Amino acid sequence: MAKWVYMFTEGNATMRNLLGGKGANLAEMTNLGLPVPQGFTITTEACTQYYEDGRKINDEIMEQIMESITKMEEITGKKFGDKENPLLVSVRSGARASMPGMMDTILNLGLNEEVVEVLAEKSGNARWAWDCYRRFIQMYSDVVMEVGKKYFEELIDKMKADRGVKQDVELTAEDLKELAEQFKAEYKEKIGADFPTDPKEQLMGAIKAVFRSWDNPRANVYRRDNDIPYSWGTAVNVQMMAFGNMGDDCGTGVAFTRDPATGNNGLFGEFLTNAQGEDVVAGVRTPMHISEMEQKFPEAFKQFKEVCKTLEDHYRDMQDMEFTVEHGKLYMLQTRNGKRTAQAALKIACDLVDEGMRTEEEAVAMIDPRNLDTLLHPQFDAAALKAAEPVAKALGASPGAACGKVVFTADDAVAWAARGEKVVLVRLETSPEDITGMKSAQGILTVRGGMTSHAAVVARGMGTCCVSGCGDITMDEENKKFTLAGKEYHEGDFISLDGSTGNIYDGVIATVDATIAGEFGRIMGWADKYRTMKVRTNADTPADAKKARELGAEGIGLCRTEHMFFEGNRIDAFREMICSETVEEREAALAKILPEQQGDFEKLYEALEGNPVTIRFLDPPLHEFVPTEEEDIKKLADAQGKTVEQIKAIIDSLHEFNPMMGHRGCRLAVTYPEIAKMQTSAVIRAAINVKKAHPDWNVKPEIMIPLVGDIKELKYVKKFVVETADAEIKAAGSDLEYEVGTMIEIPRAALTADDIAKEADFFCFGTNDLTQMTYGFSRDDAGKFLDAYYDAKIFENDPFAKLDQTGVGKLMDMAIKLGKPVNPNLHVGICGEHGGDPSSVEFCNKLGLDYVSCSPFRVPIARLAAAQAAI
Ligand code: ADP
Ligand code: MG
Ligand code: MG
Repeated sequence: MAKWVYMFTEGNATMRNLLGGKGANLAEMTNLGLPVPQGFTITTEACTQYYEDGRKINDEIMEQIMESITKMEEITGKKFGDKENPLLVSVRSGARASMPGMMDTILNLGLNEEVVEVLAEKSGNARWAWDCYRRFIQMYSDVVMEVGKKYFEELIDKMKADRGVKQDVELTAEDLKELAEQFKAEYKEKIGADFPTDPKEQLMGAIKAVFRSWDNPRANVYRRDNDIPYSWGTAVNVQMMAFGNMGDDCGTGVAFTRDPATGNNGLFGEFLTNAQGEDVVAGVRTPMHISEMEQKFPEAFKQFKEVCKTLEDHYRDMQDMEFTVEHGKLYMLQTRNGKRTAQAALKIACDLVDEGMRTEEEAVAMIDPRNLDTLLHPQFDAAALKAAEPVAKALGASPGAACGKVVFTADDAVAWAARGEKVVLVRLETSPEDITGMKSAQGILTVRGGMTSHAAVVARGMGTCCVSGCGDITMDEENKKFTLAGKEYHEGDFISLDGSTGNIYDGVIATVDATIAGEFGRIMGWADKYRTMKVRTNADTPADAKKARELGAEGIGLCRTEHMFFEGNRIDAFREMICSETVEEREAALAKILPEQQGDFEKLYEALEGNPVTIRFLDPPLHEFVPTEEEDIKKLADAQGKTVEQIKAIIDSLHEFNPMMGHRGCRLAVTYPEIAKMQTSAVIRAAINVKKAHPDWNVKPEIMIPLVGDIKELKYVKKFVVETADAEIKAAGSDLEYEVGTMIEIPRAALTADDIAKEADFFCFGTNDLTQMTYGFSRDDAGKFLDAYYDAKIFENDPFAKLDQTGVGKLMDMAIKLGKPVNPNLHVGICGEHGGDPSSVEFCNKLGLDYVSCSPFRVPIARLAAAQAAI
């Protein structure tokens, strides 16, 4: 019989896949002898089984859960529904990878009308008992029955207003009892049945709700963003309650062993007296700094500091912990390797190496490459920042510079961002529903909540700038406005946030580009030391190339020559070329383009200082370049000595029904060899000149013929290239060497790679086209139906962002295996979007690629991912 349930005493930290992160660490803390309220974990496999069984918990699992309850009752000496010593539990989700705010927790389960009276009487604390009960009804209704929090919050607000109090804690036992009654009535009205009284029935409902929450839309979005497979499932933890809401000698807190925003070594966190779990995170009351806990709870605090040390030494990483103090006694409820900003991640990794806790390789492996993105984005210009006067200061919850227009809802943030606006999302507090909006925003500003509030945690995870807890704001969400420092802000007004200091500025503050220095530089240095795969960049301009070089690129893997044609008035000559009707006309137009291209290539070679440069010949459908404005058509007609009608006829003739599979790539060179010849001359002349100026540089052009599907295409085009190149070299009296290779981006090229390798000096996987051609759907149109594919679980990720290793990857593997034996000198790279995606980079390393090529800002990400793949 399979084992579906583990007591905390049966597990350990290595069982994360089975027990989830929370469950595995609760077990590990139990093993370490730390004060953990006991309980059990239902495995992630049980979750998967639940879905396989059509969203049912089968008898075998059910039986083991019941047995575990009995064991738990023995361990704790308490019993479900007992009149003497009733057991109350929390039901907590916990996936392998932590998903903050994604899954819902239920506290105080096991309460009913009788039990609450027992608790009130035994403890002599009726207020506490009723507080627990009303919380439980609220959470259970929301999470299990999906009644919606707001109805209960309205009732609480009304009760507070009636009693003339501001804080929940000011409500009396009687008030809370009345609230519990109102809650139950609300439940009955919404659900049409009485609130369940049997603790076991409550428990099963809660467990199912946790399983179900694995599939909620928020969780699905979070998983997609964080590369967490749907198949993993979540575990469920059932744990005895510790009570932080029994009075002023109780409380609950969240703390990190190091600062998650800066990485500074030292306890960092928040604490709330007389409160339960979610109160700190939900931002309902603004909590006190952890250091104040030392005065209020000296004993528990001392013990907590020791626990921190034990845990950090044990896990050798910064820990994020949840704990509760019940009548002065400390209980540990959770520990995990804490989420941190990219900045903090770098500092902590370096510090751990310096403290002798981690090796360089381990430090490299600790950094999530995707997080580096934030460090590569612009920061506020120091001078502009100094000159600016903040209008307010709140908590710097997630660093970064944000400047944008104020919006008030997540939906608006999404909509405005979609039309290219930079926005700052301003909210009273955020909730998990706001995730997509938070993602679309440059920054997030909240009125309530501390450093561990939902907004702060999620923003740090996403690397988005966040300033939280700005109590100075008078918010009017309904009318989309707020007042701060005497000014009324409306939707669309500019505001700037500094996520490091928490400063808020009116209007726009200038930003500057980021640099790789300090700890970032150290980690990248280690990454370079341990990786074997090279990292190149996709760059079309000398400026991009220079940026990429600064960020560590070791060459250009893809220069899209057509992008150069839009500069200045080059497009005119290019249009003349396209609208030529004879070879002579075309050659005349090309002759105008040649010196321009040559100049561009010279600048590229200069920028690359002897590192390899792969230049791809003209690729896109020609009609993308034709004029559409009447005025431009007239201009072209005049230049060509033709009538407007003639030009329009030519433009019409260029129209294609399916341009991406039409007259493009090497097909252009087959029909118009003069284009390939001109481009060859430009490349070779540029290389000869730069080589002459810098004899010590290794200038060796790599000419890449796109969209080849048949060896004969490549052979045909290559002939013109070689003839032209050799003639240029001979004429210049140079000894320049060059290579001619191809992109592998049509499935047929991968299938016949053994043929193609006979003619190609290199392969470069153009995985954007290869993905589109392999799936047979257009990358420009896929956006329209991908969401349906995610919802239907056909896709978990966008295959244009994350390489489809199963299908497209197989073609790549095949091409390498076929090509290399034929041409042992063949070098192989990738230049699709995937070249900058960490999991795809890892896959490329496995396939044995020589390099990945990605956009300039992704170069550091690829360097790190390549190192992690090699370690
Ligand atoms: P999340 O993963 O969203 O943090 P958790 O399962 O950790 O959800 O729980 C939410 C809150 O409830 C946390 O603050 C946690 O400390 C608190 N909590 C969970 N279980 C217990 C328990 N047995 N006793 C007291 N508080 C608890
Ligand atoms: Mg938690
Ligand atoms: Mg392509």
